[in-house]
Parts: sequence; structure tokens; C-alpha cells
Amino acid sequence: MRVLVLNCGSSSIKYQFYDTVQRVALAKGLVDRIGMSGAVLTHIRYDGDKINIVGEILDHAIGIEYVLAVLLSKNHGVIEDKSEIDAVGHRVVHGGETFTGSVLITQEVIKVLQDNVGLAPLHNPPNIKGIQAVTRVLPGVPQVGVFDTAYHAKMEPKAYLYGIPYELYKSHQIRRYGFHGTSHRFVAGRAAKKLGKPLNELKIVTAHLGNGCSMAAVDRGTSIDTSMGFTPLEGLLMGTRCGDIDTSIILHIMGKEGLQLSEANTLLNKHSGLIGISGESSDMREIISSMKEGHKRAKIAFDVFCYRITKYVGAYAAAMGGIDALVFTGGIGENSPDVREAVCKSLGFMGMKLDPEKNNSKEEDLSTEDATVKVFRIPTNEELVIALDTEVIINGIEVDI
Ligand code: ADP
Repeated sequence: MRVLVLNCGSSSIKYQFYDTVQRVALAKGLVDRIGMSGAVLTHIRYDGDKINIVGEILDHAIGIEYVLAVLLSKNHGVIEDKSEIDAVGHRVVHGGETFTGSVLITQEVIKVLQDNVGLAPLHNPPNIKGIQAVTRVLPGVPQVGVFDTAYHAKMEPKAYLYGIPYELYKSHQIRRYGFHGTSHRFVAGRAAKKLGKPLNELKIVTAHLGNGCSMAAVDRGTSIDTSMGFTPLEGLLMGTRCGDIDTSIILHIMGKEGLQLSEANTLLNKHSGLIGISGESSDMREIISSMKEGHKRAKIAFDVFCYRITKYVGAYAAAMGGIDALVFTGGIGENSPDVREAVCKSLGFMGMKLDPEKNNSKEEDLSTEDATVKVFRIPTNEELVIALDTEVIINGIEVDI
């Protein structure tokens, strides 16, 4: 099947055109600055052919028309006719409590997504716009929604409830949902393959470390706990987000600095995390190079970042009653030996031993031969999961991810 995978943001559309038989992206790209001046589409074909197209891309529907035009283009395209697009798979951030797995998009589904906008006010509206745009531009082509929250939907109340009045859960759906589910699911499955054991016999901790960061306790294939919560703000320290915080701090700061709600929101989401502590950058590469040049606050930011991950590994091993593997993924997890080393440093007591040479290589298994808990770096591939889920939903046949 050939699936157009879309990740629609407020002013961007990331896309990959997948062949699910060969499991390769035939083309991928980004439409950026939608609705702004200087909107541009960057398109890369499987053979490396690359093109930038500048245009007046006023909304998501026009953005998708641009994507179609370049997929069909004689010189840069990969298809000859629209009908070669069998389906469209959308990354949808928030499925709420309704969507516990991927679904075929119908008018009813769109209605529920609209009802859930309050849960993800920044992310779900552009996802819905993307779905509506495809309905207009590619009428009749089936669309599937794959939710970031779905993989965590089997958490138990003891993991997803906060210590606030239960009525708030019932009336406002205030609970832990978790995000990055597609990535946690993919890398946990890959780790099981590397270990040569069925996923349903393994206890795996997955750490998705990108600009946003989250961890999951994957107990025999099910995410039983995860570090992001009601929103992606909770848990690990991130590029610009604070992660776990004593909630009184927010009230205290709002009072002291006279901050409005929106300003407090910006403070915690945009000016905290690595950039907040270091005062320099939200980018881990820059934090590490600054730390190595002797900048103290960059070093503190790095230490807080890694220490918190180590604590979560301990917590999740305890929650699962053991751990077979720790998996690093995302831009930082896949590429930073320094972060992996700092995280694993005190975990030797669990039987986790990082091989320094492998840690500095591009290998996937980074553990010493005698380690009883393996450490992996596994490049994530959320688009592949979305393409395969789309095929599963449409054909009704299970495939091994
Ligand atoms: P997103 O969450 O936006 O998809 P990515 O998964 O691409 O982001 O991760 C971006 C983060 O990965 C940035 O903090 C970047 O500095 C970090 N990163 C990328 N390469 C390296 C590297 N070689 N060493 C350390 N950090 C890296």
C-alpha cells in the first residue's frame, strides 16, 4: 500500500510518502510558514533529489495541493497519478480517552476530535485542519488517525490519576495521558527483536529524548506508565519545558511577578528546561559544547537533564518489578554518547553496563557482553508506524511492526 503520512502543525505540514511493502519512504518533505510570507516546500526524493518551492501557501489545503503537485511532478515526483495514493495517515496528538488505538477517520471521529480540542488546544486544531484539507483535495481517499496518546491508554488509574479531587477527572478529564506513544511503541518492539524475545515477556524502559522528552515503562508490550502527563509539560527536563515541578511554584511566581495565565504558560513551556537553566540554549548539542568549554550553568542544565532520566529509570524498573533493557531514542537519545553515559553511570547496580566504545559508535546494542540489562540506541520511525497502522486499519490485516 502507498500511504501519505502527514504531521500537520499550526503553520507546517511534515509529510512522508510510504511504500508499506518495501517499508521505505519514497519521498519526504516539509511545507513551512503556512499562512505567512516566504512559505516554502522542501521536498526530498528517495534518491536524494531535493527541491525547494517558494509559494503563497495560505492554508493547509493549499499546502497539501503543493505536496500533491510535487509528488506528481515529472522531474521530482514519485507518482504519475493521484490514484496511486491509497490512503492518508495522520499523526494526531491527542485522542483523549476515546481513542485508544488508530481509527479510520469519519465525520463522527472529526466531531470527537473537535470536542477534544480543549485537551490539546495547540496541536489538535491543525491536525483537524489537515484532515479536512485532505478531504477536500483527495476526496474518497481513506484517512486514518494515529494518536500520540493511544499507546498509553492501557495505564491503570493508579498511574494516570493525579492527587486532586476525583470530580475534576470526571468533569474536565484531568488525568495523565502521555505522548510520543508511537515512538515508545516502535522502539520497544525493535528492542524486543534485538533481544530475540517476544515483547510480551520483556520489561523495557524507553526514553524518547528530542526537543520534547518522555519516558515509558513498557511492561510486556503495554505502556503502564509514562512521564508526560495531562500535557507534554510534565516529566523530564526538556529543551524549553520545565518538566516535573512543585505546582506551588507557579502560583508563587504568578503572585510575585504579577504574571497572567498565558505568561505563566509561556514561562513554563518556552523559557524553562535547558534554556531556562543554562540561559544559553535549548539545543543539547550547544549545551554539551558549552559545558565542555567550562560554562557552569550549561553543566548544571546537562546534569539536571540526565539525573532526572536516571531517576525515572529507577522508578519504572520498580513499577515493573524489573528491567531487561533501556532504550534511547529521539535526536538526543540517538546521538548523544555524553547523555547516555551520564544517565547510565549509576545504574550498574541493576546490571546495566554501557560499553564505552559501542556508546561512541552507531551500533544499536551499546552494552557490554556481560550486562544483564541491555542499553540500546534505536532510531525512532514514527512515520513507518503511522503508515503501517493505516494499512492495518484499512485492510484489517495485522502486520508486524
Ligand atoms: P524533535 O523533538 O523536534 O523531533 P529531535 O528528535 O530532532 O527533535 O531532537 C532535537 C534535539 O536533539 C536537540 O536538542 C539537538 O541538540 C539534539 N541532538 C541532535 N544531534 C545531537 C548530537 N549529536 N548530540 C547531542 N544532541 C543532539
